[in-house]
Amino acid sequence: MLDQIRIVMIQTTHPGNIGAVARAMKNMGLVDLCLVDPKKFPDPEADARASGATDILASAQVVSTLQEAISDCHFVVGTSARGRHIPWPITSPREMAGVAMQLQPGKKMAILFGREDRGLTNEELHQCHHHVHIPTNPDFSSLNVAAAVQVIAYELRVASLDKHSEPALQWGTDWDIDLADVREIELMFDHLEKTLVDVEFLDPNNPRQLMTRMRRLFLRAIPDRVEVNVMRGMLTAINKKVTLLNNASIDKPASSSDSEAQLKKEPPYV
Ligand code: SAH
Repeated sequence: MLDQIRIVMIQTTHPGNIGAVARAMKNMGLVDLCLVDPKKFPDPEADARASGATDILASAQVVSTLQEAISDCHFVVGTSARGRHIPWPITSPREMAGVAMQLQPGKKMAILFGREDRGLTNEELHQCHHHVHIPTNPDFSSLNVAAAVQVIAYELRVASLDKHSEPALQWGTDWDIDLADVREIELMFDHLEKTLVDVEFLDPNNPRQLMTRMRRLFLRAIPDRVEVNVMRGMLTAINKKVTLLNNASIDKPASSSDSEAQLKKEPPYV
């Protein structure tokens, strides 16, 4: 189970923190570390702080974008020291560990950890199914990033040892269809966004929070492969109709069709 969990550190500044994370991971039996655009790595400071967990550092993947780190994952969790503007489904480290224990064999879960100075960006947090907050003192809520990894890794270990733990969420092992992975879901969001621009529901010059809210809606549902394919099929059908309508209005520029007028009538809701 624990080898299905990937710890993703984003733009970590201090190599010592990367070493300390490797140590925390090895202590708790985690093996998969991915570093997105680290400031300094490899580095002797990372090796020193890993104190014996240098194998985790040696096998760590280093990539330049978050997409590369998570595109093969089926469940993505973002860790955050504070609440954000648009609330997201939030779980405790313990609940999150319960969800992790329900991962189907072969499926991967990514847990994202942010920069030492400013954490994860909103855009990064909006790629996550769930957010996890370690319940710290609200007046002093931000842990050192390696300490945060230690807490999360500990909960994962405890959950993996507790064979009788009840599933915290009804999701996972007995699902009939494979869950969609991040790559498939991101393609669906791209398709949705382009289509909403085409039908003039989304104004690219004033997008407001529409796509953020759509992301939250679909990610909350943890869609499977068939559901994502059905969405893509619906969007393709809309694309075809829009192309037909556009061609028709090029032929007859004076009279726009009823359906076209109908599409234009609705204002953006957010
Ligand atoms: N100043 C930043 C905090 C950065 S701490 C901010 O306000 O967002 C570096 C990273 O450690 C965070 O991005 C997160 O991944 C993790 N972290 C720190 N405190 C945490 C907490 N209380 N709960 C969950 N993750 C935490």
